[in-house]
Amino acid sequence: MEMLGILVIHWYLSLFCQSFFLHRYCSHKMFEMNPLWERFFYFLTYLTQGASFLNPTSYSIMHQRHHAFSDTEKDPHSPHQSSNIKEMMLKTYNEYKTLLESETPYEIDTEVLKNKSPKWKALDDFAKSWPSIILWGLLYILLYVAMNPEPIWYFLIPLHFMVGPIQGAIVNWFGHKLGYRNYHIKDQSKNTLPLDFALMGELYQNNHHRFSQRMNFAHRWFEIDFTYEIARILNALGIIRMKDIPTGGFHKVKALLFVLFISFSIKTAVAQERQMIGTALLEYSIFKIDIYQISYFKGPNGVEELELDYKTNVKREYSQEGWKVGLEPIIKAKDLKPEQIKWIYDNTVDLAKGDKLIIRKDKNQVTLLKNGQPVAEIKDDLIASLIHYPWLGDRPIDEKLKSKLLGKSGT
Ligand SMILES: [Zn+2]
Ligand SMILES: [Zn+2]
Repeated sequence: MEMLGILVIHWYLSLFCQSFFLHRYCSHKMFEMNPLWERFFYFLTYLTQGASFLNPTSYSIMHQRHHAFSDTEKDPHSPHQSSNIKEMMLKTYNEYKTLLESETPYEIDTEVLKNKSPKWKALDDFAKSWPSIILWGLLYILLYVAMNPEPIWYFLIPLHFMVGPIQGAIVNWFGHKLGYRNYHIKDQSKNTLPLDFALMGELYQNNHHRFSQRMNFAHRWFEIDFTYEIARILNALGIIRMKDIPTGGFHKVKALLFVLFISFSIKTAVAQERQMIGTALLEYSIFKIDIYQISYFKGPNGVEELELDYKTNVKREYSQEGWKVGLEPIIKAKDLKPEQIKWIYDNTVDLAKGDKLIIRKDKNQVTLLKNGQPVAEIKDDLIASLIHYPWLGDRPIDEKLKSKLLGKSGT
């Protein structure tokens, strides 16, 4: 879950920089800002786009050509000039590369190239070099290694690497292919989503092609342009200077809805995160040997986990002895038969120093994971009610440890 959260944050940060800085500022000069803020957003675009950073000058020229020749043969990325999305992206990539290597490759179109984009040669040169691309690749991998998610999540790494081109492909393909039109203009631009939460306003291509200098891409009452709403806040803070700001009460309601939506999304995202409730160290009482650090987590949809971080080697027999002691009060109270709890003993494993055991309870499903790999799984109401009992039950192995796990006392 955490990895998905990180990907979503990366998606929106890089998307905002593309829409706000590269598109609306560098290509269209829809607003103004001082050179210091300009450098700030230039660098932020590099940081958030990382391995797929788009050079502002090349982007700007390519984008101006897109407006001037929209959906004709000269359009650098029209879905109506390519048979599939891959072919279109390859064409876009080749055109972008030509632009990156040469400043004025389109002499015929000079009237198009107003070249309004700011430049930062040192950063541009570094950003397109291999060391920069390799560095970003390594950083994405290191981030995943540091977060230590289950192996399946590593499949998300290429998405971080390609975040810019993926967004470009969606906007350029669907934005001129799928959706409704508010204006009947000569190109094929469409508004793909009535409520563009996915691409922050960029999918209102039809509105934008009709009024290419209008900062707000949302034109109908139900449309909302997230990038524009954020830009309005930056404008109010004096960071940028925008030209057209609607003052009507209706837009204020829309802006308020936007703020509510964002705060609700953040709250939901936080609630979805796995949260640690408490942590404690279990020592073997007489010799004060550290056995394991145990932490109690609550995740989304009522999932509960106990995570045991082993500080010493513990053989299977000793752990089975531990279960016996820990479960004794409930076995007596409920008069349980040995075969009813056999699963717990059968699936107890040898553990070595440094091993991590997770005892996960998801409604009536119990999963044991050793170092991230599931070792046993069962759907059983009784087992689920017992599995956390030794630590969190009404007669736990250690009352102090229990209250620490529940976050009720200091460490
Ligand atoms: Zn544009
Ligand atoms: Zn377009």
